[in-house]
Amino acid sequence: MLNLILFGPPGSGKGTQAPMLVEKYGLVHISTGDLFRSEIGNKTSLGLEAKSYIDKGNLVPDELTIRMLKAEMERNPNAKGFIFDGFPRTIPQAQALDAMLLQKGSEIALLAALDVPDEELVTRLFGRSKVSGRSDDGDEQIVRNRLHVYKSETLAVASHYELTGKSRFIVGVGTVDEIFERLCREIDAVLV
Ligand code: AMP
Repeated sequence: MLNLILFGPPGSGKGTQAPMLVEKYGLVHISTGDLFRSEIGNKTSLGLEAKSYIDKGNLVPDELTIRMLKAEMERNPNAKGFIFDGFPRTIPQAQALDAMLLQKGSEIALLAALDVPDEELVTRLFGRSKVSGRSDDGDEQIVRNRLHVYKSETLAVASHYELTGKSRFIVGVGTVDEIFERLCREIDAVLV
């Protein structure tokens, strides 16, 4: 299996790059943000609970997030690998993911973090809110909180995978194709 974490703050381009990586490497894409939005759209109890956190730009509790992620992985038992997008966002999530992959005799091959300056992120998210209709993108207070949460709770995940030499920071500014090329270079390096 080839398991990748596409990492980076909100607005860093994970959602743009993921489908291109899926096409090139034939992996299953799991975005916990997309899964939560689908649960909210279907008005499930999980969606209703998650919404109260998402609307404030806070993280959904680990227990709920890990349960949803696990179910999605189980729906794809024959995947030749996964691209995790927006997960893990905390150390307990990373530990749970490592344990789930270990059960499959696998592990994370690479955490690729897209590096983008804060002010560029705020501009991108505000622009995205006009087309995505995502309320958590259009409110500056919520956006700033999401960036704060990334630094205070999520960045530690990159350090967790750095311990085993798996983390790579990639310049996330430039054209979509340039950034894709940088990502592919890192992925190809772990394939050989
Ligand atoms: P995203 O689409 O990845 O920006 O996620 C949107 C929102 O969903 C986040 O601001 C969080 O509230 C929630 N969320 C997504 N993934 C996770 C996760 N792995 N852990 C906790 N909350 C998450």
